[in-house]
Amino acid sequence: MIEKVVIANRGEIALRIQRACRTLGVKTVAVHSQADRDAKYVKLADESVCIGPARASESYLNIPAIISAAEVTDAQAIHPGYGFLSENADFAERVENSGFIFIGPRPETIRLMGDKISAIKSMKKAGIPTVPGSDGPLPDSDREIIKLADDIGYPVLIKAAAGGGGKGMRVVHTEAALLNAIQLTRSEAKAAFGNDTVYLEKYLGNPRHIEFQVLADSHGNAIHLGERDCSLQRRHQKVIEESPAPGLPEKLRHKIGERCAEACRKIGYRGAGTFEFLYQDGEFYFIEMNTRVQVEHPITEMVTGVDIVRETIRIAAGERLSHRQKDIEWRGHAIECRINAEDPKTFIPSPGRIVTYHAPGGPGIRVDTHIYSNYQVPPYYDSLIAKLIAYGETREVALARMHIALAEMVIDGIKTNIPLHQEMMSDAAFLAGGVNIHYLHKKLGL
Ligand code: ADP
Repeated sequence: MIEKVVIANRGEIALRIQRACRTLGVKTVAVHSQADRDAKYVKLADESVCIGPARASESYLNIPAIISAAEVTDAQAIHPGYGFLSENADFAERVENSGFIFIGPRPETIRLMGDKISAIKSMKKAGIPTVPGSDGPLPDSDREIIKLADDIGYPVLIKAAAGGGGKGMRVVHTEAALLNAIQLTRSEAKAAFGNDTVYLEKYLGNPRHIEFQVLADSHGNAIHLGERDCSLQRRHQKVIEESPAPGLPEKLRHKIGERCAEACRKIGYRGAGTFEFLYQDGEFYFIEMNTRVQVEHPITEMVTGVDIVRETIRIAAGERLSHRQKDIEWRGHAIECRINAEDPKTFIPSPGRIVTYHAPGGPGIRVDTHIYSNYQVPPYYDSLIAKLIAYGETREVALARMHIALAEMVIDGIKTNIPLHQEMMSDAAFLAGGVNIHYLHKKLGL
């Protein structure tokens, strides 16, 4: 069994992992940058190790420092959370080669899924429906590329194989713009990801983003926990998520969910994972797999009662999944609002001191956050400071609770996007359910 875990992350997810460890009686080591030295979750951990200066490249991305922290504290395992090193196959490999357990999939799986082209190929082989596209890197010949785009049909989307975080994508509407756009995307991808491989996909006009949560152990068992609708996005980044997806036929959930679980068995997947799809006109199209815990995992936990983060640790310790597929029941509805430290109109980050924090509460309300009154939001990292989750027996109840919770929540001293969330909770189309991925952009006039 694992007795001590190094949590190689920060903020709300570091605290979330710490809580999951506690439920298992596992001790925790918080590794942190100088900027996070005074964070309460660092003090709450059993031990803490400063791994470098504020800048992430010198701390949360500093592989030798993190592995050394595991060595000096006699920990057995490292949990990467999301972001930072969570999908870095080299990191996972170095953790294992240093004799520690990486709490996540095998390095080969991370590598396979980290390249979107190989991910799509292996998923197609496993029976998962994908977006019509180039089915591989683009050929060298311009004429062949033009023919390929023509076959797919405009508009097409150029995507970087190594892309992530909503970056490395470009829509092309006409043949005249194609080759130039490919050159541009290639050089951007090279600069951002160190890899200029790009591929083409059909650009879907009005899809919803619906993703499936899976859990797989190292004994060949895999289950799915249903779906999340993450269509409310800004710049391809999620803002509000909910589960279940409004109006999705139950039969389809089981069918696609079971295919995802089956794909996990086929590729020998291990840990928590998410299959991301676009959903349009009743059809699912796989776009990528995330080989880690997602920001939006709590809504699945609320409707299934499964503690996903706890499962990731149990799986890494070699235990079997706590649940069988037939035990999984979906009850009620859950919604998550990502609370960011940013201007609600311009979206410019707004770090600084939180003078007053008042947490909302009441039935069905969950807040995953590391903030408190007098907490200093550092300017160096992602602007996510809290996740407000509302659960209800029905979607209407969950929405009403979210509405009230947003009004109760006080974060003074910095700007947050709470006003944007409040606006969404009175938005007729969102309330009706099932808006597509372009909805928020259009509403914001972008
Ligand atoms: P990333 O790895 O950067 O998150 P994804 O492949 O997951 O990139 O895509 C992010 C978002 O981009 C999707 O949620 C969707 O909004 C949009 N998108 C991706 N592929 C397509 C497509 N073929 N057609 C239309 N929109 C797409």
